[in-house]
Amino acid sequence: MIKQRTYILSLDGPCNQKCLFCMKTEDIERKPKKSYASVIKEIKNASVLGYKCIDFYRGEPTTYSFLKEAVSFANLLGLEVTLATNGVMFASLDFTTRFFKETDIYGVRVSLHSDIPTVHDKITQVRGSWKSTISGIKNILRFNDRLSVNVVITALNYKQPLRIAHFIYSLGVKGIKYSGICLAGRILEHKDIYVSYESFRAYLIDALKVCKKLNFKLIEIEKMPSRVLEEVNLKETAQFRE
Ligand code: SF4
Repeated sequence: MIKQRTYILSLDGPCNQKCLFCMKTEDIERKPKKSYASVIKEIKNASVLGYKCIDFYRGEPTTYSFLKEAVSFANLLGLEVTLATNGVMFASLDFTTRFFKETDIYGVRVSLHSDIPTVHDKITQVRGSWKSTISGIKNILRFNDRLSVNVVITALNYKQPLRIAHFIYSLGVKGIKYSGICLAGRILEHKDIYVSYESFRAYLIDALKVCKKLNFKLIEIEKMPSRVLEEVNLKETAQFRE
């Protein structure tokens, strides 16, 4: 996704998942949802400050009933919009259709942590979330193929990055991001799911090699040493290759 001059619009308030690694538990559990007026003001300020892109980010943006209106407002100001979501709300084709027909979204990042439903559901702490997220991914792809899947690596999935890559590729997804975790937020109560970079590095390298072969149009990493990309001759890309 675009990284230059991107304003991160962090939407607080409750989320419809309870991921074991969530770093923003304070913000999403204690802060109230932002009001429509305050979100519009933030978008206006971002535009005045010269930002070219705006990223609607966690809690879970789709839990805001005015999300479409806020995105449309950003579009009106000429801002490119990206969205980070857990994809659950997009399980409804009706919701997805209305959302994408009424907005102009450059790209979407959807978090999916395993090709195995029980593993994903354990991480999100919501039974059935894998099924919803998969439906969401399929529905989003009907309208926008700049979809990237964000895989957070934990002790529950650190041996699986390769099979996750194959799985999402089979769904038609062309972007992937592997993220490490910071010891902050909810994971402090679930330290058993933390896994060190040294432990997952070899599995990740195998997966990155395959992502390159499969010609993913966007390959990103986060919260881990960037040299892992160099090891497989990959350069960090900021946006989808068209
Ligand atoms: S979907 Fe995102 S904001 Fe919601 S609990 Fe998971 S990590 Fe936190």
